[in-house]
Amino acid sequence: MKLSKKIENCRLSPIRKFYPYAVEARQRGIFIHALNIGQPDIHTPAAYVEAIRSYKEKVLSYAPSPGIPSMIEAVRNYYARLGVQYDPSDIVITTGGSEALLMAFLSILDEGCEIIVPEPFYPNYHTFISMAGGVIRPITTSPEDGYRYAERNRIEPLINEKTRAILITNPGNPTGTFLHSDEVRLLADIAKENNLFLICDEVYREFIYDGAMTTAAILEDVQEHLVMIDSVSKRFSACGARIGALISRNKALIEGATKIAQARLSVATLDQVGAEALYDVDSSYFDATREEYRRRRDVCYAKMKQIPGVVVAEPKGAFYMMAKLPIDDAEDFQLFLLNEFDDNGETVMFAPGSGFYATEGAGRSEIRLAYVLCTEQLSRALDVLAKGLEAYLKKKEKK
Ligand SMILES: *Cc1c(COP(=O)(O)O)cnc(C)c1O
Repeated sequence: MKLSKKIENCRLSPIRKFYPYAVEARQRGIFIHALNIGQPDIHTPAAYVEAIRSYKEKVLSYAPSPGIPSMIEAVRNYYARLGVQYDPSDIVITTGGSEALLMAFLSILDEGCEIIVPEPFYPNYHTFISMAGGVIRPITTSPEDGYRYAERNRIEPLINEKTRAILITNPGNPTGTFLHSDEVRLLADIAKENNLFLICDEVYREFIYDGAMTTAAILEDVQEHLVMIDSVSKRFSACGARIGALISRNKALIEGATKIAQARLSVATLDQVGAEALYDVDSSYFDATREEYRRRRDVCYAKMKQIPGVVVAEPKGAFYMMAKLPIDDAEDFQLFLLNEFDDNGETVMFAPGSGFYATEGAGRSEIRLAYVLCTEQLSRALDVLAKGLEAYLKKKEKK
């Protein structure tokens, strides 16, 4: 029997590879500081569970395919507060931002079509785009220039007759890069001039540390091109709720996505009930979580900057940082940290950089750190990383 080309083109998560070694290290009594995964530790507002507890219906029925009307209304009101007026019919509630991405790619890409994505990028893009039969055409960026890419002469040469869309993540995972409004404007202009979709993944919108929260959705003249990817996962620290949204004023796109939404019947009813309640959370919740992440960002950046030979730019948003280390192979370094190193019985895990790239061989000196630990632990974790790097470089020298 044969498996599909589509699934063969997909990749397994690069982080999985290290799991057995982490298990072994823990069995030896080693404590591992986990900077490899982006699971926030901030408490989900109690409103989520309370709303589900007070659910009174006798039958747990399917929800409407585009979403429960009051849930759609909650998303609509949220955007109205950002100054963007959507019609309920512009919004499809999805199983996380993940399903919104998949629906967008399935609706936009034909077999062999290309989508322009700055690299390093969120690895699941690669899987979803491959599932839709598409191909990533990467905009290469570099740690030396802070992973910035919004320049006409870097993007236009990538456009050809197979190009259907530009995908941006703002603020960025894995880089933490935040696009300024003039950069978003430029990307919107390029999409408009070339008749492309501009897919904006802004699931970290609340986490911007220098500058005000903005959204590409406010650009009135490109509404036909814009596809917004939304999610409660990061916004309300509710990753397990699995609620997101696909939003666009492009009627044809929404109609396409609706076909998929109807076939998968509905998004979990109770999760929508809980998620809707999250949108009533007071804005002080965001101020407090943003401040907490800003402190973590500051610790992470200050510590990394001090390590000799490390190239980092200060992350401006989300809760990740990408760094280039003075090594050839971050995967080999990770194996060393798990198999051969500890400092007082402690070691560190990170996400090796190459899994965030489409270009073969790119990112091998880089790592992604998720600053999702409290500042004290984060500080200790980065000291352990620095010591581990020193030990690793010494070992290499000897060879
Ligand atoms: C977490 C994440 C998502 C989607 O997550 P869901 O939990 O499915 O909403 C989408 N894009 C990026 C960049 C992410 O980091």
